[in-house]
Amino acid sequence: MNQDSLLILEDTFKKYYFDNFDLLHVPNDSHEREFAYKKFNSKLYRHIALKSDKELHLLLMTQVPSDVYCSNARYSFPTLSMNAKDWQNADLIFDIDSKDLQLQCRNSHTCIKCLDCNAFSTSNSKCHKCNSHRFKVIVLLCKYCIAAAKKEAKKLCILLINNLGINKQNIFVYFSGNDGFHIHVNDSQYQLLGSRERADIVDYITLRDGSTINNNNRPEIKNSTKLKYNQTRIGVVSNNTEIKNTSSVIKTNVKTVEKNTQYVIKSIIDPNVTTDIHRIFRLPGSINSKSGMSKVLCKNLNLFDPLYDACFIDDCPTQILASCPIRFRLKDKKFGPFENERITVPKYVAIYMICKGLAEISQL
Ligand SMILES: [Zn+2]
Ligand SMILES: [Zn+2]
Repeated sequence: MNQDSLLILEDTFKKYYFDNFDLLHVPNDSHEREFAYKKFNSKLYRHIALKSDKELHLLLMTQVPSDVYCSNARYSFPTLSMNAKDWQNADLIFDIDSKDLQLQCRNSHTCIKCLDCNAFSTSNSKCHKCNSHRFKVIVLLCKYCIAAAKKEAKKLCILLINNLGINKQNIFVYFSGNDGFHIHVNDSQYQLLGSRERADIVDYITLRDGSTINNNNRPEIKNSTKLKYNQTRIGVVSNNTEIKNTSSVIKTNVKTVEKNTQYVIKSIIDPNVTTDIHRIFRLPGSINSKSGMSKVLCKNLNLFDPLYDACFIDDCPTQILASCPIRFRLKDKKFGPFENERITVPKYVAIYMICKGLAEISQL
């Protein structure tokens, strides 16, 4: 990335943070959490304490991070090294990423950038110019992928409420800022579960590793020895209670999913995220440097459109040097393909393309 591109990213991110402090908060129990951040072109800084929103906002203004994270775990000493932190418990978290959904549309919005000659190709196996197999895969936002990820998020919420007995008021669905959704469960009966027990929850949700569907078309948790570690806590899993007192949003979701699939059987989640009890997870409200879009709460998942609801960057005309072999759509406008072209685009497109590695700021 050239110096001008770096400067515009930092300026844009700083302006976003300054204008949107109301979207960025530390959790209530922030004194027990570990915070972390990355700057553009630098390493990860972690084991950081932030005790108030004020301290968070100060960090955003002085460091201008490219990415900000907060632990799902609570610790007695969050700033010490991992083995001295004294783990207390951790929120249950889930990551639904479109890349895991094996969608047919994927190839049509994926390209590669050769690490040897810098050429862009639509092929996904080798550089079309020098035949190199060393490349970076670049995936652009796709409404079909988002719709499919949304569907998985809805199914997951239903499983969490209906089958795992989690209070719907403790479930928060966020757009990840790039290609999927993050689901946070704050305060549940599963807070104390270790990694192995969480793996059982993953098996249950994904129907992986021996979990089966019972006669009621519900997943049945396997009779694992691992479950003995916390039989009483996980016991609620097998209690298929009906959804009670759910909000209209969840009720709508239930109807939609049941109409489409007849019954809810599983959800495709990233197992590594859910089983990680020391995860530093992207902080809600922060910008994702992979896209320039923000991780935002989806108050109504059905109506959520990342292009409008997660894109906070203005449309000030910005000149870039762009290379992108595929056409893409942002905010109802089509862009590309571009072949090493100097073009003027709205700033949100410039930032998106620079974050994706498809453009540089061009001063001429
Ligand atoms: Zn090449
Ligand atoms: Zn797609």
